[in-house]
Amino acid sequence: MRSPGLVDLQVNGFAGVDFNDAALTAQALDHALEAMLATGVTTCLPTLITATPDDLAARFDALDRAVATSRLGPLMCPGYHLEGPFLNPAPGFRGCHPFEAMIAPDAALVARLAAGLKRPILLVTCAPEREGGLDFVRAMRAQGRAVAIGHSEVSFDLARAAAEAGATMSTHLGNGLPQQMHKLANSMFAQLAEDRLWGCFIADGVHLPPPALKSLLRAKGISRSVLVTDAVAGAAAPPGLYALAGMAVERDADGAMRLPGTQTLAGSALTLDQGRAQRDRLGLRHARGGARDGERASPRRARRRAAGAWRRPRAGRDDMAPTTARRTTRREDMTVARARVGDVEREF
Ligand SMILES: [Zn+2]
Repeated sequence: MRSPGLVDLQVNGFAGVDFNDAALTAQALDHALEAMLATGVTTCLPTLITATPDDLAARFDALDRAVATSRLGPLMCPGYHLEGPFLNPAPGFRGCHPFEAMIAPDAALVARLAAGLKRPILLVTCAPEREGGLDFVRAMRAQGRAVAIGHSEVSFDLARAAAEAGATMSTHLGNGLPQQMHKLANSMFAQLAEDRLWGCFIADGVHLPPPALKSLLRAKGISRSVLVTDAVAGAAAPPGLYALAGMAVERDADGAMRLPGTQTLAGSALTLDQGRAQRDRLGLRHARGGARDGERASPRRARRRAAGAWRRPRAGRDDMAPTTARRTTRREDMTVARARVGDVEREF
């Protein structure tokens, strides 16, 4: 079976490599992207999480340099995802992000961070309830970036207002939320009900128990759902300790990534083909359309949306050919036999 491959909109690291490392090298990035390619991902947005402005600047600088000078970065990474620091710092919402570095939305900071980069910050995850949140959403759209709601306590009204202001996605819907909330008037239902928001879901069986994922996908609608990994360095790697943005995170025997000694999830060890298999086991494929409808829920569709909603890279600032060829060929058991991006071809 042939397809252009999968798109991962949220990936913090992979195969032992942390994309949030200010010492990230082109060699390390290539190692991670080669491993991602073997899982059928041909496009991804390396994702930086909450940090101080100085740390974010240093991390973006290293990431952008690694992408530009690596073999696969220019072919697989059209831009970046900034998840934070404009998030809700309350326990439960903040997840594993360092809450002391969280600040109110600051459009000028994003513009400053992006100014020196060769590739754009394409997607920003924020909590619109923070002061100036809706103005920030509008400013991001004016800067040509897509906006997702995440680590956020939006009300029904605010979810609607954020969508009106230009937010188009929900980051890892169903996660980044407290264990206890109002049973119905909560941020998750507010985002599920807003049809202008696509839902991104982590289908690793840990962030969302499979029956809960099934319910969420049905509630949001398959055509508005996107699978992401939220992977960190422990994905496609053995159990043990890894780094995430200066923190230690542990890959447990059950395949979950946690802050050591706690139950707090810190990204995932998921690969996108595993996520897709998890979705397919839920039996949500269209009875008649089969794989065709299954494809609709895949991140591949996000790229088409991106083509319309995201800024085209400015001439001279991005050397990624918009026509970069992407193709994966899968065996009957859905493992990837061959992948191609641009002039790079791999057999697995
Ligand atoms: Zn998150």
